[in-house]
Amino acid sequence: MEALLSVWYGRHGRDLPWRTTRDPYAILVSEVMAQQTQVERVVPRWERWLERWPTADALAAASPGEVITEWQGLGYNRRALNLHRAAQHIAAHGWPDDLTELPGVGRYTADAVACFAFGRDVLPEDVNVRRVTDRTGATFSPAAAQALMDLGATVCLARIPRCGICPLAEGCPSRGRRYEPLRKQGPLEGSFRQRRAQALRAVVAGEQPSDEEAVTALARDGLVHVRDGLVSLPSAP
Ligand code: SF4
Repeated sequence: MEALLSVWYGRHGRDLPWRTTRDPYAILVSEVMAQQTQVERVVPRWERWLERWPTADALAAASPGEVITEWQGLGYNRRALNLHRAAQHIAAHGWPDDLTELPGVGRYTADAVACFAFGRDVLPEDVNVRRVTDRTGATFSPAAAQALMDLGATVCLARIPRCGICPLAEGCPSRGRRYEPLRKQGPLEGSFRQRRAQALRAVVAGEQPSDEEAVTALARDGLVHVRDGLVSLPSAP
C-alpha cells in the first residue's frame, strides 16, 4: 500500500513551505500553528512569524505580549504562550531528548518534530494519519507520514471518504463506508471561547474588556495581567 500512496503523494501532495526545511524550530512553529487551524490559513502566518522570529532564541527574547499580538487570528491563544515558553526552554537548555518536556508539546507534535526535523524513526499520528491507518488496517513507515496526512485531509475524509479517487481503495476493507458526524462542540463551550477571544482582542487593541469572567479565565492562563483593575498584555519576557 505504501508504494501506491507514495505515487499518489508525488502527484497530489500539498506543497507546504515547512516541508522543505529540517529546521526543528520552524517545524515546531508549523505544527503548533496547525494544531487547531487550517493549514491554508497557517501558511502566510508561519512565513510572517519566521520572518519576525527566525530562531528559538529570537522568539525567546520577545515579550509574551508581542507573541500574543502576533498570534491574533489563529485562535486558541494558549498555544502562543506555550510556544513562547518552549522557545525559552530551547534557548536556555537546547532541545530535550524527550520533546514532550517542552510546554504545549504533546505526543503527536513531539513525534512530528522528531520525524520531520531530526529524522527519527517514528510515525507521527495525527487525526488524519490515524484515520487512514485505522480504515485500511495497514502499517506504514515514518517515510509515509506526509502522504498519510494529505490523504486523510483531502481524500479519506472523516464522514464521507472519497474512495472513488483513493489510491488505496483496492486493498481497503473500509472502502465505500460512511461515518457518523463527530460530536460537535457544545454551544456554551463555543460561546465562552469566543468571549475569551473577544476580550483578548480588545486588550491587544489597547481597550479594556468589560467581560470579567472572560478576563479572569485569560488571566488564569497567563494571557493577560490584571493590576488595579486594569487589564494588559503580559510584558515580562
Ligand atoms: S478506500 Fe476509502 S476508506 Fe479506504 S483509505 Fe481510501 S478513502 Fe479511506
